[in-house]
Amino acid sequence: MDIIFATNNPHKQEEAQAILGPSFQVHTPAALGLPGDLPETCDTLRGNSIQKACAVWNCFQQDCFADDTGLEIDALGGAPGVHTARYAGVDKDPAANRRRVLAELAGLPFEKRTARFRCVVSLIEDGALTVFEGTCEGHIALQESEGVQGFGYDSIFVPIGLDVTLAEISIEEKNALSHRGKAMRMLQCHLQQRHG
Ligand code: IMP
Repeated sequence: MDIIFATNNPHKQEEAQAILGPSFQVHTPAALGLPGDLPETCDTLRGNSIQKACAVWNCFQQDCFADDTGLEIDALGGAPGVHTARYAGVDKDPAANRRRVLAELAGLPFEKRTARFRCVVSLIEDGALTVFEGTCEGHIALQESEGVQGFGYDSIFVPIGLDVTLAEISIEEKNALSHRGKAMRMLQCHLQQRHG
């Protein structure tokens, strides 16, 4: 089955393809001729996720899904939340975002650095919307790890049950426990029930 993932992030595309498996071909808007950023102007993850999926549906009228992910840090009152991508500025610089988080938590012991990733996946299938959500609990590391896997905040996020960051494990290990992995497996179940 062909499906469009409303993202320009090759890491997200790779994670999604690994979860959905070979019976699904995951395409991106850019590869289909729609370059540039998709709109994300809502004040909730759910709103942004639906907004991105609708933008792609309106363009192609083909089955598609989008995700929007936020990092919620308890000691920062749930920030950056919906502002996760632009936490250190409009240019969405991942290294600057990580530095800002580490600076704001400076001096806080590991056990008080509780946080979670929240991922909202919106599927539009034959024009009908279904929304799935996955979370991954963990802690913000005391410093950035040297792991090179993953993207975004992975190198400063230690999931519960591990003592390394998401940047130090394989894509399969990340998918098994991550926010996106959980939401995407719900999407996969839904699609398999409908399409066998
Ligand atoms: P968006 O969902 O693409 O808008 O991502 C929001 C922000 O969260 C961006 O800064 C991403 O780099 C970051 N992000 C999204 N998913 C992940 C992930 O799985 N690991 C680490 N950072 C992520």
